[in-house]
Amino acid sequence: ITFLGLESSCDDTAAAVVRLRDGRAEILSSVVAGQVALHADFGGVVPELAARAHVEKLDLCVEEALDQAGLTLENMDGIAVTAGPGLIGGVMAGVMCAKGLAAGAGLPLVGVNHLAGHALTPRLTDGLAFPYLMLLVSGGHCQFLIVRGPEEFSRLGGTIDDAPGEAFDKTAKLLGLPQPGGPAVEAEARAGDPRRIAFPRPLLDRPGCDMSFSGLKTALLRARDAAMAEAGGLTRQDRADLCAGFQAAVADVLAEKSRRALKLLGEAYGNDMEAIQTPYVNQNGQEYAPVLAVAGGVAANSVIRAALERVCDEAGARFLAPPLKLCTDNAAMIAWAGIERFRIGGRDGMDLAARPRWPLDQHAAPMLGAGK
Ligand code: ATP
Ligand code: FE
Repeated sequence: ITFLGLESSCDDTAAAVVRLRDGRAEILSSVVAGQVALHADFGGVVPELAARAHVEKLDLCVEEALDQAGLTLENMDGIAVTAGPGLIGGVMAGVMCAKGLAAGAGLPLVGVNHLAGHALTPRLTDGLAFPYLMLLVSGGHCQFLIVRGPEEFSRLGGTIDDAPGEAFDKTAKLLGLPQPGGPAVEAEARAGDPRRIAFPRPLLDRPGCDMSFSGLKTALLRARDAAMAEAGGLTRQDRADLCAGFQAAVADVLAEKSRRALKLLGEAYGNDMEAIQTPYVNQNGQEYAPVLAVAGGVAANSVIRAALERVCDEAGARFLAPPLKLCTDNAAMIAWAGIERFRIGGRDGMDLAARPRWPLDQHAAPMLGAGK
């Protein structure tokens, strides 16, 4: 099965071709056109500008993706497109484009939930079997999911306010560091002492997997102003220590909540270890373990990764992080999620609607007029 996938739900326009043959998935091409420069002057993504850019870039991305794969539309078995959640203008542009291509070439159309794309990525990259635990941690999302099947997701909890990526970006802004904030804060933190400035660990006193990150931003602002008042300005070391303290707090929260999520995964399957173990190959040959997989740009953070790896080691679980290019927004994951849906009979008609909101546990693809 070969699918063309389209993604345009945020600030990246993307198209990709993915093939599943003899049980092995292969990414034949993956084109991503970002909009960093377009939105740079505005301090955030401007929805109208994003939508217009998607309209302009989608055709080119599709052409490029097919070219790089050395294939044409006739070689496709279907078209997958992000139908939500996301910025509605961009999602609509993608859905329109996909409908045009599907109708024109007489191909099946499969609407995909963007979050399902992220959640199913470890199956594309590592052929992971169900079930597994997914921590989706990006600029716009933060949630724990049990991934049970191509359209079966159980949400265990998530952020009740900001996403961690957003908190990293705001931290960078408050400290005069460049955007995107994550890599900048991580680099700065390398020279910092994470213990000098105390940051809270929000919601750790509460049971479950819900998280909160907006308080960290407030704590950062206060600590920054205190440091500035003391010395009349922010020293290089102050900034490094602030970044390190903030980053350690995010890592601690994600680690502790991951520990709980792994426990909940076990409980969801009656603590039947066999039911939650998936096979994987390592230096000792084939082994079995429950898996915590991550997706989203924040998964690039090495301190956060190390913290999650430690949690998995302690819990006898395996930590799996797909290559960064596939952790952030891309269309290969959409093509793949389309293939997964298609294989279990998922199809959409020309009434496929773009949805700004689309919780993963309501997995059925949206119809026009639904979800209002
Ligand atoms: P969505 O939430 O829809 O996936 P997004 O574009 O905001 O959209 P991603 O592209 O997955 O999310 O990730 C971008 C976010 O990841 C940004 O907020 C960025 O600061 C953060 N990020 C990137 N690298 C790092 C890092 N090394 N440490 C922490 N955060 C990082
Ligand atoms: Fe995303």
